[in-house]
Amino acid sequence: MKKIIIAIDGYSSCGKGTLAKSLAKELGYVVIDTGAMYRACALYMLEDEVDLANADAVAEAMKHIHVGFTLRDGINMVTLNGQIVEEEIREMRVAEIVSEVAAMGVVRDKMVQQQREIGKDGGVVMDGRDVGTVVFPQAELKIFMTASVEVRAKRRWNELVAKGTDISEEEVLYNLQHRDEIDSNRAHSPLTLTSDYRVLDNSEMTREQQLNLALEWVKNAG
Ligand code: C5P
Repeated sequence: MKKIIIAIDGYSSCGKGTLAKSLAKELGYVVIDTGAMYRACALYMLEDEVDLANADAVAEAMKHIHVGFTLRDGINMVTLNGQIVEEEIREMRVAEIVSEVAAMGVVRDKMVQQQREIGKDGGVVMDGRDVGTVVFPQAELKIFMTASVEVRAKRRWNELVAKGTDISEEEVLYNLQHRDEIDSNRAHSPLTLTSDYRVLDNSEMTREQQLNLALEWVKNAG
């Protein structure tokens, strides 16, 4: 069967990554978490104390940022300048600034170029905000994931608490709404639902139901 490009876009904490991983496993595809790439850039900015209000400083920082992926125990881990940063990029301090960083053209240009290179031969499931609109407008299957903000906040809060993070559900909800707001309204590649997406609202769906529906769509794509 032809190896296609599957784009999964949507709001923060909708389970895009979870669906992307299970689809990729089922199809024998590569999975690329583009959000992790923006998070790695944001982590660098934090650690290097880059002034985000200074466009030159951000552009200079981007020259020193090399984001990549490496397989560990069969799982694709994101790397920043050769170091695995999978844990650090999920911290709240990164979540708090990542959308501001990802709104900058100089950041997006570099990441998008890399994403196109990784996915050009197909056989890839890529999740993010602009995969089906900007990175691969020609993707054979585009899925737009959504769920109620309360359901999303609850899921993300459970994940953070399980990792030992001391945070209230309200703080998580605020962060999600804040990121959605920036992601949907920025000038550069905003999150946009166009008519060529299949919409998947998983507020009341199990993971298995989501996977089965997406696999149906894959059968009819391409
Ligand atoms: O997917 P995740 O929530 O980890 O992404 C973190 C942030 O990265 C998003 O809130 C968004 O600001 C940014 N992002 C983006 N474009 C993508 C993927 C993520 O702007 N393709």
